[in-house]
Amino acid sequence: FTRYTRRVRIVGHDEPGRLVVIREVTAERQSERAKEAFVANVSHEVRTPLAGIIGFSELLLGREFTAEERTRHLETIHREAQRLSSLVDDFLDLQGMDQARFRIVPAKLDVRDVVRQQVSVYTGRDDEHPIRVRMPDAPVTTMADELRIGQVLGNLLSNAIKYSPDGGEVTVDVTTDDGIVRVEVADRGLGIPPSHLAHVFERFFRVEHEGHERIGGTGLGLALARELVELHGGRIGVESTEGEGSRFWFTLPASG
Ligand code: ADP
Repeated sequence: FTRYTRRVRIVGHDEPGRLVVIREVTAERQSERAKEAFVANVSHEVRTPLAGIIGFSELLLGREFTAEERTRHLETIHREAQRLSSLVDDFLDLQGMDQARFRIVPAKLDVRDVVRQQVSVYTGRDDEHPIRVRMPDAPVTTMADELRIGQVLGNLLSNAIKYSPDGGEVTVDVTTDDGIVRVEVADRGLGIPPSHLAHVFERFFRVEHEGHERIGGTGLGLALARELVELHGGRIGVESTEGEGSRFWFTLPASG
C-alpha cells in the first residue's frame, strides 16, 4: 500500500488511494490478457505458414506434377517460408532495439525509389487492391536506411491490403514541404475505432475488428515501424474512420 500512497502523493491528490489501486490492477490484468492473446496470435502466425510448407512439400513429394503446377506449389512454399522469416526478423529487430544493439545505416536516398520498389512488391497480388501512387516529378531526397524505410512502407502497404478484406484502392502519396518528406498510405478498409487509434503503435496491440477475427497478425509491425521512423528523426501517425478506411503516414527530414 505504501507504494500506492507514495504515488498518490506525487500526483498531489488527497485520498485517491483506492482509485490508483484499481487502475494498477486493471493495467496489470490488461497486460496479462495482451500477453495471452499475443502467445495465441504468434502460435497461429507460426502454425499457418508451417502448415502450408509441410502440406505443399508433401504434395510435391507424393506425386508427379507438370512444370507449371510444380512452380506454383514451390512459390507457395517460398512465400510461406518468407512469412515465417519476417516474423522472426521482427522479433529480433525489436529485441535489438531494446538492447540498444540496433543500428540504421543512413545514406542519401530518393524516397520515390523506395516507393516504386515496395509498390512493385504488392502490385498485382490480387485485382481487388489496385495501388495508386502520386509522387513529385523531382527527386525527394533524405538521409535514410533504404532497407528500413522499405520495411516501414512495406508494412503499411501490407496492412492496407490485409485490413481491406472487401477490396478497395490503396493510395500512396509522397509530398515534401518545409524540409519534411511525408509518405501516406490510405485504404478504404475496415478502419479503426477512435478509442483504439492511440494504441495501434504499441507492441502486441491488435484491434478486434468485429466479424474479421480471422485476419491474422502479431501486433508487432506498427510498433517496429514507429521505432524505425523515430530512429530516422521522423514521426508516424494515423487518421482513420471506422468502416471507411485509414490513412497512415510517416515523415522524414528532407536533405538537399
Ligand atoms: P498486426 O497486423 O500483426 O496485427 P500491426 O502492428 O501491423 O499488427 O497493427 C496493429 C493493429 O492495428 C492491427 O491488428 C489492426 O487491428 C490495426 N491496423 C493496422 N493497420 C490497419 C489498417 N490499414 N486498417 C485497419 N486497421 C489496421
